[in-house]
Amino acid sequence: MGRGPRHAQGDRPGMSKRDKAGANRPLSAATRLVQAGRRAEWTGMPGDPGAIVNPPVWRASTILYEDVAHLRGTHITDPHKLYYGRRGAPTGWALAEAITQMEPEAAGTMLFPSGVAAIAAALLAVVKPGDELLMVDSAYGPTRGLCDGLLREFGVTTVYYDPLIGAGIADLCTDRTAAIFLESPGSLTFEVQDVPAIVAVAKARGIVTLIDNTWATPLLLPALGLGVDISILACTKYLCGHSDVMMGSVSANAALWPRISRRGHMLGQMASPDDCWLVLRGMRTLAVRLKQQGESALTLAHWLAERPEVARVLHPGLPGCPGHESFGRDFTAGAGLFAFELAGGGEMERAAFIDSLALFGIGYSWGGFESLALPVDPETLRTATRWAGHGPLVRVNIGLEDPQDLIADMESAFSVWRSAMGR
Ligand SMILES: *Cc1c(COP(=O)(O)O)cnc(C)c1O
Repeated sequence: MGRGPRHAQGDRPGMSKRDKAGANRPLSAATRLVQAGRRAEWTGMPGDPGAIVNPPVWRASTILYEDVAHLRGTHITDPHKLYYGRRGAPTGWALAEAITQMEPEAAGTMLFPSGVAAIAAALLAVVKPGDELLMVDSAYGPTRGLCDGLLREFGVTTVYYDPLIGAGIADLCTDRTAAIFLESPGSLTFEVQDVPAIVAVAKARGIVTLIDNTWATPLLLPALGLGVDISILACTKYLCGHSDVMMGSVSANAALWPRISRRGHMLGQMASPDDCWLVLRGMRTLAVRLKQQGESALTLAHWLAERPEVARVLHPGLPGCPGHESFGRDFTAGAGLFAFELAGGGEMERAAFIDSLALFGIGYSWGGFESLALPVDPETLRTATRWAGHGPLVRVNIGLEDPQDLIADMESAFSVWRSAMGR
């Protein structure tokens, strides 16, 4: 028996001693995260399997073979045999397997050097020239860039749809529709989509569904469990969690996994073993970080909703947020990123507010342990819908600081904003 999570070779990944003992209660996601990817052969040596808690960094380009017969062996087809550096080594395999184990319906996960690289490869795996792609209008900006640039040049037509369309997506489907791309909640504006309704329409027509699940991760929204075929994460955000790694992942169900893995390899995509090691380490604390950041974000959101300086809070857990009912039905909890609209003023007053925050950094990205505030302007990013804002929008990433300190910081920034407004 190996040490640690005791995965004997050949066990189903994620199978623990407890499963083997016949306990029929499935392990919860938090427990699976502790054990995920820690195969004995990746965390030890022959004679001492599973001895090391975290899979070490395995760096390699050239792989050496014993002789020519060995070279001609099964290395080419077995994804977990050392073959050539681009095909990876145990550090990356362990991370990919850990991400797969977050979603019981996932058949496999491919890693990419950024979230955008993951989105690009996933799209290129499911559309071809002449196809139509249905893309949510609240998608992450660079995702639109891919559609309006690369995909358009390659003969794929993107049709943007209202994030709140639900079953109405059927009206947009044609015999050329190859894929529907979801992102829920939407980037910047946080509309929650009716995932089951869209999946039902897609399944009835043989259309592939993909979701950018970066906000929720599989812990808060089990997307593949809801029937989505492909789940994409910017691991740069919550999985890493410490604002020092760029990475993306694509997980797919059994039907789509061969296409994703083939296309990813064809595009020459991989993630560095050092980065994989950092993300795997970050993942061990994902459940507690998400829980704390989600709770703190809700505390801040409720406090903001009562402030006279705030016109509207866009947090999926609050009733004012479009799609709030779907959130309550499909998500297990909320994450730490949301936005709110200031009750008046413009660019200058918004900047005065953000600049005077002491505990919130100003920067792109999110999902790290530190709080961030960012001025965002979704108006220019829409084509299928019009964004009807009530005032300048501020997006916040709530970190691991004490929420009461964050509230006090916002309170003093609001007094600066009031002075800027002449109130
Ligand atoms: C940041 C982000 C991405 C892209 O991830 P990168 O690692 O920065 O390329 C994709 N989708 C969403 C929702 C994001 O917030």
